[in-house]
Amino acid sequence: MGLLVVGTPLSWEESKKYFDHVRENGIEQFIHMYENGLKKTNDILLWGDEIEYIVLSVDEDHKIARVSLRQEDILEALEEHEKSGFAVDASSLISGMHNSVPIKPEELRELFHEQVNENKTPDLKKPFRAEYVTPTFHPEYGRYMVESTPGAPYGSTLEDLLNVEANMLMRRIIIQQHLAKNEFPVTLTNFPLLGAKDFTDPPTTANGPISRSFFLPDEVINSHVRFPTLTANIRTRRRRKVAMNVPIYVDKNTPQPFHDNTIPWDRDLFPEDVNAREGAALDNHIYMDSMGFGMGCCCLQLTFQTTGVDEARKLYDQLTPIAPLMMALSAATPVFRGFLAEQDCRWNVIAGAVDDRTEEELKTVPKSRYDSVDCYIANDPRNLSEYSDVPLVMNDRCYKQLRDAGIDEKLARHVAHIFFRDPLVIFSDSIHQDNTKSNGFFENLNSTNWQSIRFKPPPPQSNIGWRVEFRSLEVQLTDFENAAYAVFVVLLSRAILSFKLNFYMPISLVDENMKRAHARDAIHRHKFWFRRNPFPSSADTATSSSRDQFAEYTLDELFNGSDENGSFPGFVRIVRSYLHSCNPKASVLYRLERYIQLISQRASGECMTAATWIRRFFMNHPEYKHDSVVTQKMTYDLVKKVLDLESGGFDSDLLGKTNA
Ligand code: ADP
Ligand code: MG
Ligand code: MG
Ligand code: MG
Ligand code: MG
Ligand code: MG
Repeated sequence: MGLLVVGTPLSWEESKKYFDHVRENGIEQFIHMYENGLKKTNDILLWGDEIEYIVLSVDEDHKIARVSLRQEDILEALEEHEKSGFAVDASSLISGMHNSVPIKPEELRELFHEQVNENKTPDLKKPFRAEYVTPTFHPEYGRYMVESTPGAPYGSTLEDLLNVEANMLMRRIIIQQHLAKNEFPVTLTNFPLLGAKDFTDPPTTANGPISRSFFLPDEVINSHVRFPTLTANIRTRRRRKVAMNVPIYVDKNTPQPFHDNTIPWDRDLFPEDVNAREGAALDNHIYMDSMGFGMGCCCLQLTFQTTGVDEARKLYDQLTPIAPLMMALSAATPVFRGFLAEQDCRWNVIAGAVDDRTEEELKTVPKSRYDSVDCYIANDPRNLSEYSDVPLVMNDRCYKQLRDAGIDEKLARHVAHIFFRDPLVIFSDSIHQDNTKSNGFFENLNSTNWQSIRFKPPPPQSNIGWRVEFRSLEVQLTDFENAAYAVFVVLLSRAILSFKLNFYMPISLVDENMKRAHARDAIHRHKFWFRRNPFPSSADTATSSSRDQFAEYTLDELFNGSDENGSFPGFVRIVRSYLHSCNPKASVLYRLERYIQLISQRASGECMTAATWIRRFFMNHPEYKHDSVVTQKMTYDLVKKVLDLESGGFDSDLLGKTNA
């Protein structure tokens, strides 16, 4: 979540004086990065993932799981230990791997082939010292969250992809080693009872002045001053609390209409308490009123370095239509604030959770600063301007500044769009920055425009290249699944570049797909727009973007291909032909195939998304009263089941059948 600067944030009123200062200098910083970045044309393909975890505290006596608010202690312990190198017991890695394909001890060396010093074969019976793969751990918005990344980005080889699952597992084990006996890192996107009664350890009360939420105490917010400031400034800027209303899943005993009695309708503690009574809270919906409901969700993100700026711009564009589809396929969020929802994904809740638009701006500014991409940016003759067909708000002065510096129209529009928003937090000690050496002002805005795909220019004075971040994936329950989604998107992005695939379609249709991707059981109940012919063809640059070029497909058709409905090749087939074009060793193919099969079976419905699986778990629970309510016992039992899967348990309904 952005860079953590040490210092004092300005009050919202004071910070307004510096908005234009931040913008003007941020653009100057971008121009410097752009110009220096033009020299970068030989970078290698590198990539890395980010996984976010919820730390749960489990009370076995009372069978209750709660979020543990010990983030600071945990990260401090991790940081302390990081200096001396983490020690991981290899046997715990082996037993934790997806057990439908047992990993033999000798295979572990191959898993870590890059990092293991060949001369010193690790003795697998002893703790496996992993200094050379020291991952990093970061704070996140929720004070019950931790984020981890691999110690160094992965390279471009297929063999590198075989390290991913073990690396993820190792990171989970390392976090686990720094927790109390009753604490566990879980990769649920959302804690089902977040904002319900009695959901934190230690206990808290929702009455804090920062978020002013009915449900979330300020103690769930990361205590670094950036996070409470972000929270308060969004509320101040929009002049009311944030308000998310997710339709409730209506079961046979759900009262109709559903009027939520867990909302303290009559509270009069803060001026914003009237918001709910005055229409912010809707009947038949799960109402949420605080940034933490969104930013407290966990996701899986992937960052790709490209060979240069042109390739980064192309990859950004081609991944834009993929983002909603992969989100639907990774759906894992069927419950909010203790109620089953009529949707399966977190995205629109986060969009609402950081939506800083005033009521007037809702009429003129189409989207939250957290939303899907608004315009394509590639210098590609196939990037027709009519594909960027949704209204684009821009800061006109920034646009002019960019154009005057020679930045082309497409990139200038993107950056001026990002710079339309106000800087949300300005630190008093970083008001003066050397624009040739810093990217602080640029990142102030770039990192608070949370788009489905993020364009990351090369930071000054570093050897990092042009990068593109894929941000729509919901985090999966197990490392096997997280590795599968990561590996699949990596392979698809390689196929995109290698085969020069053309996924261009109007942004308005991408937005429509993003809406549909949220739907409950979207795999069976919705179709998605896509380009009929994703292969490069001479007709591509024809000026017509006629709607006939796009059709609606099920996710099964899009991933597994379809010979009917105008025939679509399918991303799984595309990925497989890319793999074969690399002439991989049989053993590599065999291992990667497990991941591809999971993706394929999720799309076909042969196995379930986490959202469907969790929903079904709750709906079949003996304590469930068919009234949409998720209880503490139901949540505890889910957590136990998830912990079992995370340590190698198997469930073919969720994880599919592998024939590899
Ligand atoms: P942010 O939170 O800003 O998105 P993080 O630092 O948390 O960024 O994660 C960045 C990810 O990018 C990590 O997985 C890291 O391994 C990876 N990464 C780091 N350097 C590069 C690079 N040069 N190219 C591609 N990926 C990189
Ligand atoms: Mg994060
Ligand atoms: Mg991060
Ligand atoms: Mg970050
Ligand atoms: Mg990220
Ligand atoms: Mg936008």
